[in-house]
Amino acid sequence: MTKKKGEYCSFCLRQKTQTTLLVSGQEAFICNYCIEEAFHLLESEKKEQKNLLQNQDLTLLIPSEIKKHLDQYVIGQDDAKKVMSVAVYNHYKRILHKAHFKDSPVEIEKSNIVMVGETGTGKTLMAKTIARILNVPFCIADATVLTEAGYVGEDVESVLSRLLQAANFDVQAAERGIVFIDEIDKIARKNDNPSITRDVSGEGVQQGLLKLLEGSIIHVPPYGGRKHPEQKMINVNTQNILFICGGAFDGIDRKISERLNKQSIGFNSASKKNKINAENVLQYVGPQDLKSFGLIPELVGRLPVVTYLAPLDANALKRILTEPKNAILKQYTELFRIDQKELVIDDEVIDLIVKIAIEYKLGARGLRSICEAIMNELMFNSPENPDTSIHITFEYAKERLNQARLENAA
Ligand code: ADP
Repeated sequence: MTKKKGEYCSFCLRQKTQTTLLVSGQEAFICNYCIEEAFHLLESEKKEQKNLLQNQDLTLLIPSEIKKHLDQYVIGQDDAKKVMSVAVYNHYKRILHKAHFKDSPVEIEKSNIVMVGETGTGKTLMAKTIARILNVPFCIADATVLTEAGYVGEDVESVLSRLLQAANFDVQAAERGIVFIDEIDKIARKNDNPSITRDVSGEGVQQGLLKLLEGSIIHVPPYGGRKHPEQKMINVNTQNILFICGGAFDGIDRKISERLNKQSIGFNSASKKNKINAENVLQYVGPQDLKSFGLIPELVGRLPVVTYLAPLDANALKRILTEPKNAILKQYTELFRIDQKELVIDDEVIDLIVKIAIEYKLGARGLRSICEAIMNELMFNSPENPDTSIHITFEYAKERLNQARLENAA
């Protein structure tokens, strides 16, 4: 090798004039570019070490522990809680299995989940709570904004952009995260028979989602949106990402009933029919119903865990107002406590809030805005109010609701 003249970086051979800084060592030089590169290498090495350790430290909560945590935040929905607890437990066992039983000939498959239930029954809350228990990055994506590549809307990869953002761009953390895809039912094929009418947009998105769900390396635009050629992509391996999908699947109860009726015809029909609880057929939901609803079989196959959330009755709504760790009424009590005031709410007020929520058919979603209508004036005056106790009576609540034009329901 011919010897270069003057001072130059011993690593990249840049001349001193081509650098902003050239640090001299015993018998070598290093330039600012190589220092920077070495720094990044060191950082990623450190991160890898940390992740390995974290992986080993991953506390494996057993299903009953996961359910106990869920019980603190989610009211009712016992069936879904049990199914989810087992699915999450198996998911993390699968990750540990891969790390510690590398030689095992058995490969445990992913347990992506689909939750069927009316809006406001706690699907998102359930997914969010699980992510919090496990302390992993979590994001919510809406299936309705996704479109097939080449159409107006977001590419399916943008789902992972959100997860990366939630993980502060720590790719390894994101690769163990949970993605909640809401409104999955809205991308269903409109007709069960693909050969009659092909509903291209919905089916195209479903196809797009397949590759995320099955576990592959996806090129993700870090800031979402459409893929721009100038945007540097980040590679994300989805093998260990848990996907939880949710949807109301309006009308799926009819499909379930049809299937149950067909099954019972001519085969021990009387006794079977008796066992079916017609009140809540959702509890019998299975993969075949998702398929009849319009999800493509490949997608259904990659969502092996199917569960349901029951509609919330008055009793459940009442409990939601008062029982969970961060129940809505507990939050108001806390807000007044900061103003050094005690909040007292009469039982009839709680019944009134529940009654209106049911009439508005918003599930638990409506509770918050009804409470807000009752409390707003009190919260406005609270800092200047000399009283140390705030008492909300039925008459007061009704008057506030009248003001807020919720009187018809009350
Ligand atoms: P979904 O995703 O099913 O439409 P969410 O989980 O977003 O509904 O619920 C909306 C809000 O209603 C939540 O923030 C939560 O406060 C409340 N909620 C709904 N269902 C429950 C439940 N089963 N237990 C406790 N809170 C609930």
